[in-house]
Amino acid sequence: MKLLSNVMEQVIKRNPNEPEFHQAVKEVLESLEIVAEKNPEYLNAGIFDRIVEPERQIIFRVPWVDDNGKVQVNRGFRVQFNSAIGPYKGGIRFHPSVNVGIIKFLGFEQIFKNSLTGLPMGGGKGGSDFDPKGKSDGEIMRFCQSFMTELSKHIGPDTDVPAGDIGVGGREIGYMYGMYRKIRNEFTGVLTGKGLTWGGSLARTEATGYGLCYFMDEAMKTMKGKSFEGATVVISGSGNVAIYATEKAQQLGAKVVALSDSNGYIHDPDGVKLDTVKQIKEVERKRISEYVKYHPNATYTEGCSGIWTIKCDVALPCATQNELDENGAKALVANGCYAVGEGANMPSTPGAIEVFMNNGVLFAPGKASNAGGVATSGLEMCQNSMRYSWTFEEVDAKLKDIMVNIFRSASAAAKEYGQENNLVLGANIAGFLKVANAMKAQGV
Ligand code: NDP
Repeated sequence: MKLLSNVMEQVIKRNPNEPEFHQAVKEVLESLEIVAEKNPEYLNAGIFDRIVEPERQIIFRVPWVDDNGKVQVNRGFRVQFNSAIGPYKGGIRFHPSVNVGIIKFLGFEQIFKNSLTGLPMGGGKGGSDFDPKGKSDGEIMRFCQSFMTELSKHIGPDTDVPAGDIGVGGREIGYMYGMYRKIRNEFTGVLTGKGLTWGGSLARTEATGYGLCYFMDEAMKTMKGKSFEGATVVISGSGNVAIYATEKAQQLGAKVVALSDSNGYIHDPDGVKLDTVKQIKEVERKRISEYVKYHPNATYTEGCSGIWTIKCDVALPCATQNELDENGAKALVANGCYAVGEGANMPSTPGAIEVFMNNGVLFAPGKASNAGGVATSGLEMCQNSMRYSWTFEEVDAKLKDIMVNIFRSASAAAKEYGQENNLVLGANIAGFLKVANAMKAQGV
């Protein structure tokens, strides 16, 4: 980096001890160097300096009472990163690893992802260091109510519209929505991922995983002359994204042979039985290790990183950031894997991405390939504004169109800037240009 190195230095100085945020910004700035060279007007308008600084960051106390009557305190976050092209939009994550740097990395990525969908949505992200694991329903409800008591002051259907992420699914959205409605005395589309009888969109639950497969199917056909038909697929995670990526990959003719959670992974050479996984993870909320009790041909291995040593054609990391490192990438390449699509946000380390690029592996970055979730959230917002619901087929068809278009715009931008097939570069540039032009037009 030459022209943008001072922007990066400033980010590191201003945001010390936030390695994930530095990693996300560095990747984007490296792609944008060529844009800065060709278009000095963005430098003159200070777009790069402005885009790396959130418009607003809110940090708040979340006090709640556990089942033993003891007071617990967590920390809540909402980072409203950029609203140049629409209201802030991005999920809420409940996980003990959450801190301001993680939320900032996610919020920053969200700006470009939301722009890529073609829908009018700005970038934001939120969460808490609350650990939902092992908590009762009552504890989850009291926590969500306390979290929303503060968050409600900062969001609104035309201001900021949060959604789910790790640890936040339909149940949590329900408790938060109920509290917002009580506090504000209004029924508006302030959250997405809502239940179907109270403003939710059909296909939102499936959207990120399905969208990932639509993106990869188009990318594999165009760039490799291949498809999911007959492919062996390894998927990490067993949450919302992983489950519905498995479902769509199977529908498209693939054999998914592995899934994981934060304790370990299962390998089922006969093909994962998704009904069992849904029962364990969505209904019983238990560990993926339970799977082998029902399917003795499958094996369970403690620890997460070994999943990338399983032979496959296509790998879809769908758990969390930096879960796939250089060693994992080398193992995948050695076993003949030709396509990697990120369902999670930033699951591949920079070292892993380099290995994929150097070995001609089709690599789809999360901000393009997992944008189906937020795109369908955007469609939920449209339906809420119209007070009308589309059918599953209508939403699914729009999702598919959006994912194919994202692939085409990332691919076209990569070609235009002289690095055909580099979807990292293409997605960063295509996502950036729309936001940068809006920022420039709107003045400092
Ligand atoms: P869920 O909470 O439903 O599932 C997360 C899965 O990842 C679980 O299997 C979890 O295992 C595993 N996991 C979480 N943390 C770790 C860790 N530190 N190491 C290993 N495994 C871990 O979340 P989602 O499926 O919604 O989200 C998964 C990823 O996809 C995240 O990166 C998220 O930001 C991204 N994403 C989600 C979207 C959505 O619509 N939900 C949209 C776009 C991106 P365990 O149960 O043991 O914690």
